[in-house]
Amino acid sequence: MPAVEALPTPNRTKPLYDPSEATVVFVLGGPGSGKGTQCAFLVRDYAFKHLSAGDLLREEQDRPDSEFGEMIKDYIKDGQIVPMEVTIQLLENAMTASIEKDNKRLFLIDGFPRKMDQALKFEEAVVPSKFTLFFDCPEDVMQERLLNRGKTSGRSDDNLESIKKRFRTFVETSMPVVEHFESEGRVVKISATKLPEEVYEDVKGALKEKGIEIPVFKFSVPDSSAAAS
Ligand code: UDP
Ligand code: MG
Repeated sequence: MPAVEALPTPNRTKPLYDPSEATVVFVLGGPGSGKGTQCAFLVRDYAFKHLSAGDLLREEQDRPDSEFGEMIKDYIKDGQIVPMEVTIQLLENAMTASIEKDNKRLFLIDGFPRKMDQALKFEEAVVPSKFTLFFDCPEDVMQERLLNRGKTSGRSDDNLESIKKRFRTFVETSMPVVEHFESEGRVVKISATKLPEEVYEDVKGALKEKGIEIPVFKFSVPDSSAAAS
C-alpha cells in the first residue's frame, strides 16, 4: 500500500473523482457492530474493493519510516480519531492505486468517516459517496463481541478500557456523521444484532434497492473465504 506522501490533502476546487468514475459506499456502525464481517461477505460476492480506514491506519503505523506511526498508535489506543488529513490521504492513495492497477472503482469504505470534518472534506476533495450502510447494534452486544475478539485479535484497543473510550467517541463524534447523512436521506440502517448470515441477507436487499447487484462472473466462482475481521 502506498505511504502517505503529500500532506495535507490538497485544497481542490472540485473532488478528485466524479461519482461516475468512482462509487463509494461508506460502512459505519459502532466498534464491534460487524462492519468488517459484513464487508468480507460483500467482497466475496460483489465487485467491491474493501478499504478499512482502521486497517490502513494500522498499516501506516507499522510502516518503518512513517512519520505518523507514533501519533497513530497513541490515537488508536486511546480510541480517538486520527487527524483527518492522514486518513483521507491514505484512503485516496488506496483508491487511486485500485483504479490504476485493477480498474476497480467500486469501493466499500469501512469505518470512515467517523467525524464531521472527515465526512465533509472527503466528499469535497475525493468523491461524494453514493450512500452509507449503517449497522445499528446495542453497546452490550458490541462489548461482548469486542472482548471475545480481544482474546485473539492482538489489537491494542480490544481491551475494556479502550473499548469504553471507543464507545464514547462513537456516540459523541461519529453518530453526528450518521445523523447528518440521515438528514439528507442517504443512510440505509441495518439491525446488526442477529447472526452474521442473517444480517447479510438484509445488506444484500439494501444494495439491491440502491442498484448494486452481484456481478454475473461472481456466480460461477465458488469461494467460502469470507472471514470476520
Ligand atoms: N480510526 C481513525 N479514523 C478513522 C478510522 C479509524 O482515527 O477514520 C482509528 C480510531 O482510533 C479507531 C481505530 O482507528 O478507534 C480502529 O478503527 P477500526 O475501524 O479498525 O475499528 P472498528 O470500529 O472496526 O472495531
Ligand atoms: Mg473493523
